[in-house]
Amino acid sequence: MRNPHAGEPFTSSDAEIAAALADVSIPTLLLSCVHMSGDTTLLDGPLRPAGLFLNEVQGYMSEEDKAAARAVALDIIRDYRDRGCPEPAPIDPQLLKRMMDWLVCAEVPDEYVPMMLEEMGLDGRDARGAGHTSSRESRAEFPVVVIGCGQSGLLAAIRLQQAGIPYTVLEKNAGVGGTWWENTYPGARVDVGNHFYCYSFEPDDHWSEYFARQPELQSYFQTVLERHGIGDHVRFNTRVLDATWDEAAATWTVRIQGADGAEETLRARAVISAVGQLNTPHIPEFAGAESFAGPAFHTARWDHDVDLAGKDVALVGAGATGFQVAPAIADKVNRLTVFQRTAQWMFPNPNYHESVGPGVQWALRHLPFYGRWYRFLIFWPGCDTGLAAAKVDPDWPDQQRAISAANDLARMMFTEWITSQVDGDTDLLEKVLPDYPATGKRTLQDNGSWLRTLGRPHVELVRTPIDHVEPAAVVTADGTRHPADILVYATGFRVNDMLSSIRVYGRDGVELHDAWGERPAAYLGITVPGFPNFFCMYGPGTNLASGGSLIFHSECQIRYIMGCLDLLLAAGERAMTPRRECYDDWYARCQDELATLVWSQPSIEHSFYKDDNGRVHSLSPWRLVDYWAWTRTPDPADFEFA
Ligand code: NAP
Repeated sequence: MRNPHAGEPFTSSDAEIAAALADVSIPTLLLSCVHMSGDTTLLDGPLRPAGLFLNEVQGYMSEEDKAAARAVALDIIRDYRDRGCPEPAPIDPQLLKRMMDWLVCAEVPDEYVPMMLEEMGLDGRDARGAGHTSSRESRAEFPVVVIGCGQSGLLAAIRLQQAGIPYTVLEKNAGVGGTWWENTYPGARVDVGNHFYCYSFEPDDHWSEYFARQPELQSYFQTVLERHGIGDHVRFNTRVLDATWDEAAATWTVRIQGADGAEETLRARAVISAVGQLNTPHIPEFAGAESFAGPAFHTARWDHDVDLAGKDVALVGAGATGFQVAPAIADKVNRLTVFQRTAQWMFPNPNYHESVGPGVQWALRHLPFYGRWYRFLIFWPGCDTGLAAAKVDPDWPDQQRAISAANDLARMMFTEWITSQVDGDTDLLEKVLPDYPATGKRTLQDNGSWLRTLGRPHVELVRTPIDHVEPAAVVTADGTRHPADILVYATGFRVNDMLSSIRVYGRDGVELHDAWGERPAAYLGITVPGFPNFFCMYGPGTNLASGGSLIFHSECQIRYIMGCLDLLLAAGERAMTPRRECYDDWYARCQDELATLVWSQPSIEHSFYKDDNGRVHSLSPWRLVDYWAWTRTPDPADFEFA
């Protein structure tokens, strides 16, 4: 069988090929040429990328060099076509490493190479699909319940199905996608490049935009669900009320409620919580909010029956969501008032709203390993470099301004970008320039649409705190009445109230949230002492603030979970929980590490990364390469079995 990443054979004409090459990533193209031709001298010549930065997929090559590279590539592709598009011979690991270094214009440290090779899956294998040591029979008698059918729950289902483990996915919504099902607000789109923000084992040649909008993302998850035959195992419109561990039977009893209100119980040997962190909307309690006369809703519950045309809209909150909503609705409304408590740092991404042109689509579909190297190209700049830049240098003089030299440099670059957008409007500049260190909150990707929107005559950015809400206005602390017909809360999620939508009763009837108190944690973000055979995906301590993709993290977590189940079954045991000392040690190490990173700093006054006490529980402070290594195989010594 042909390696799926070797591309579909083609018979395109020379002119069609030349046209396709017009807008492809040239460094990526040249690596595909190495596969097609076997000519490694391409890596030695002058046609090469000059540098790498986020979203810069041309490696800063000059127009002349790009044109010359296209001419070289055209000859190679023509020859490859004329030979009938044979599957390229495998490339040895040393050469692959050289190709990696060449593409990113730097030495890729050895410890990253296996992770990156696995992520690319150049051999066509889905290496993260777990192997098994347990018997097929034991797996077939071990039913598992998965709570949630977003990106992580769907992934769990795929892996359970591949392992021959019976499973049921419980999903409160009517369809698959989780966040990408619920967040239908205007302008919703992903801000991690889609050719990386997708499962590593699924084709990635179909995206119509580099950063797809919500409908396309939701339909991607629907397609994957169908392709893997998961649908029959999912109970949509079904809410989990609670899960209770029965020690004698080593079984979870999961109480569920259907759309008609009827309750039912399911029995499972293990439970995987895949409810995510951005699951429960947060709406601040403003005095008088209940008196508001018009429609009022949270962005994750967008009311599409409400017509915004000609209306005065108050948009409260402008983080990642509000930042996308404002430009998307400004054209429709009479007046848009954006209430922003804290300004956001942002950096340029010219591709943010761009379509994937036909040439790139062609290359992704037909050129061997083009898509795989493109995936690597957009993963690498966000792989752990951001974490290094988030590290506090305690000797750096002005910690309110920046936490290190690298962070100060980021501040200058971001400031330059923001300043270049406001067209000399100093009042606006004062409002939109953050007063805390760069990257201290989630940094937004920008193509200019946000500040362009704020500069429009009928749009106002208000930084004065909200005092109260009246039937037809939002009133700020300075007494100004801002008329409003519609109130939209883009105020984020109850991130620190982890797994808030479910109650989980573990050993001795202890409820998970009581066990946590104000310290939600899980060993490796996955398991909790006292809660046997209970696993989290995108659990405490696993959100990513400095790069990577949650799908990558989920693939790490489910591999670990599948490894745990295999360990349990192969040993003939019934239940496993992490050792208390492992969990405590993990928690202490996470907290110590987080204290050294920008997100914990007192200079960041408001952030959903912090709880009410200023502690950070949601984020991972670890390098992706470490988390990947730690989650490859569970260590039996970390667990108690029963
Ligand atoms: P968020 O980043 O928490 O932003 C919430 C906004 O509401 C902030 O402006 C916040 O102000 C404001 N707010 C909250 N409570 C308030 C209060 N009591 N008074 C006044 N203002 C208040 O939430 P989000 O924008 O929904 O984004 C959450 C996360 O979702 C993102 O970080 C990201 O992970 C994900 N997301 C991703 C995308 C994407 O991929 N493109 C898009 C949307 C969301 P402060 O800043 O002062 O707290």
